Amino acid sequence: MSPASPLSAPSPAIWNERQQRAIKLLARKPQAAPLLEFLIDLLDLQRGLFVWAGAEAWPGDLVAPADTYPRLRLETLPGERLGPVFSKFLADVGPRATDVLSEIAQTVQAKGESSQHRLLESWLTRQNLEPLGQEWGIDERALEFFPRALVQPIAEQLALRLGPVPEAWKEAFCPYCARPPQLALLRDETVIKGRHLLECSLCRTLWPFRRAVCPHCGESKAEQVQFHSSDELPHVRLVECQTCGAYFKSVDSRMDGLAMPFVEEIATVELDLWADEQGLWKLQPNILGL
Ligand SMILES: [Zn+2]
Ligand SMILES: [Zn+2]
Repeated sequence: MSPASPLSAPSPAIWNERQQRAIKLLARKPQAAPLLEFLIDLLDLQRGLFVWAGAEAWPGDLVAPADTYPRLRLETLPGERLGPVFSKFLADVGPRATDVLSEIAQTVQAKGESSQHRLLESWLTRQNLEPLGQEWGIDERALEFFPRALVQPIAEQLALRLGPVPEAWKEAFCPYCARPPQLALLRDETVIKGRHLLECSLCRTLWPFRRAVCPHCGESKAEQVQFHSSDELPHVRLVECQTCGAYFKSVDSRMDGLAMPFVEEIATVELDLWADEQGLWKLQPNILGL
């Protein structure tokens, strides 16, 4: 992607809105306070990365030709440019993170640049982080937080420049970065009311997807796809597939126009605890690994 890209760099204002929303929910959901407080700090760092990514001249082959999916070849992100940024991110996020993540940030920082590069590259090429985690004595799910949180705003910046997803896209994974969806969103659009979309767990691209269908196994029988509401935030529902045992959350922005889907997702941790007790598995853990 060259600086001459037809779409100019998107505005970082959305990051402030997300942060404001997290601050609002913090007051309403004290039990989610440790998560939301960390998220508020993380959004600060990610806004900086988003702005940085918007000003960078990325190599043209990072974006696949039109009609070739996924459109973003994130595995080609240049390591020499991400390396120093990753190192700084580890130093910045460490003091603000939870105790567990803070300790891991220090460990990964102390390992030096080549180990950090290995972690980043393994994650970008979608390798299993378990062997690396075992070698370093770190839980791989906790380890994943660092490359994912770093790349997320960069991927979002790049995906926004690609514009809306073509209507023909019917898959249950992101057309731009190929990652699984984090959640579903219901919203009224100018032409289509109650539109059902999936939101990417990495680049936050939205794409239309059939309602009440399991994105994992494709189950669509009404009695097999069940909904459970959050008492405190009723616009967030847990969608459970009784066929494959997967679950994800669905945010109805028509019930709360101020909802920021992934912030609501993190704030409704009680739904995850409930799902865990039921033996369900999450389609995709959120950025905080829950
Ligand atoms: Zn994506
Ligand atoms: Zn299913």
